[in-house]
Amino acid sequence: MARVYMDYAATTPVREEVLEAMLPIYRETFGNPSSIYSYGREAKRVLEEAREKTAKLIHAKPEEIFFTGSGTEADNWAIKGIASAWKGKGNHIITTTIEHHAVLHTCEYLEKNGFEVTYLPVGQDGIIDLEDLKRAIKDTTILVSIMHANNEIGSIEPIKEAAEIAKEKGILFHTDAVQTVGKIKVDVEESGVDLLSFSAHKIYGPKGVGALYIKQGTVIDNLLHGGAQERKRRPSTENVAGIAGFGKACELLETEWETEGKRLLSLRDKMIEGIEKSVPDVVLNGSREQRLPHNINFSFSSCEGEALLLLLDLYGICASAGSACNSASKSPSHVLLATGANIETAHGSLRFTLGRNTTKEEIDRLLSVLPEIVKKLRGTAPFYKN
Ligand SMILES: *Cc1c(COP(=O)(O)O)cnc(C)c1O
Repeated sequence: MARVYMDYAATTPVREEVLEAMLPIYRETFGNPSSIYSYGREAKRVLEEAREKTAKLIHAKPEEIFFTGSGTEADNWAIKGIASAWKGKGNHIITTTIEHHAVLHTCEYLEKNGFEVTYLPVGQDGIIDLEDLKRAIKDTTILVSIMHANNEIGSIEPIKEAAEIAKEKGILFHTDAVQTVGKIKVDVEESGVDLLSFSAHKIYGPKGVGALYIKQGTVIDNLLHGGAQERKRRPSTENVAGIAGFGKACELLETEWETEGKRLLSLRDKMIEGIEKSVPDVVLNGSREQRLPHNINFSFSSCEGEALLLLLDLYGICASAGSACNSASKSPSHVLLATGANIETAHGSLRFTLGRNTTKEEIDRLLSVLPEIVKKLRGTAPFYKN
């Protein structure tokens, strides 16, 4: 039985074209980009070509792209780097309650070190209220960090409007765009952000490679200290092959994301409609309209998400209960709780995220087994009344 992978928000398979771009780097272009002889120069050229492709996808200048070891590192750098460089001006940071842990736990760390953080609430649709942002700004605010779209429930945040509000007050704006780059339009110029994080493995590139966009002229401290790589801003001998793969993934998406986005959106809506038709007592989590084209997240009353996940796995279907980072812990998703869901609803949630290899047939297969699985679980649930 062929497996059905529906967890593209957790990670994606490396595309064949990406692998093809990486293999010759491992085999032949193994020089250290900091070396001045030919091997080094060749590796350096690989980096700069990848930088151009990566920049192009988000409409940045190549010199505004800094490669990192992950999306998590890019988030850490943006927030700690701004906090450190601007602490003379103020100690207040604004973010949201639904950020990825890479942002949330970084902010919590800063709170233990003299910074004050405001966590903006979200509505039931998982979207912030811009009025809350305006009200949260203080004289001491130095950074606003709001994710472009949420990894669990797919809600898309109004970052352009939020960045404008921050800019009017002379406050820097960061966005975690790990879930949106290559899926919906991401344009750093048009959205007016100062810093933007993204990651290769969420867009069919290799794991362990990310990037931080830093708008030209932005004053930010380094996260790591060491050599002079990445124009003295991010030391470490570069992951040349990984970066080449990242560049290739971005180059491919540059021409494909819009068409692929439309295809996924129609599959997503077919799946949402199918689940709502065939399974009673379900709630769609997140916004119906302002939603990533590949995200489906439902709560199934009187079901444990984990149990659903295990039963689906028996049919070869891979999904996610809460975010991957939560799968080892019993605490319900902070994102669902932030949308006002109660603990039971949060525990009964299941996320499906679609991608390049998703077909209509796969969705039909999911729809052919899910109603039975839910029924079976509810049959054993002591408090399901229907
Ligand atoms: C996956 C993800 C990250 C972390 O990126 P890594 O490259 O896995 O460290 C950060 N933010 C969001 C929204 C994500 O989905």
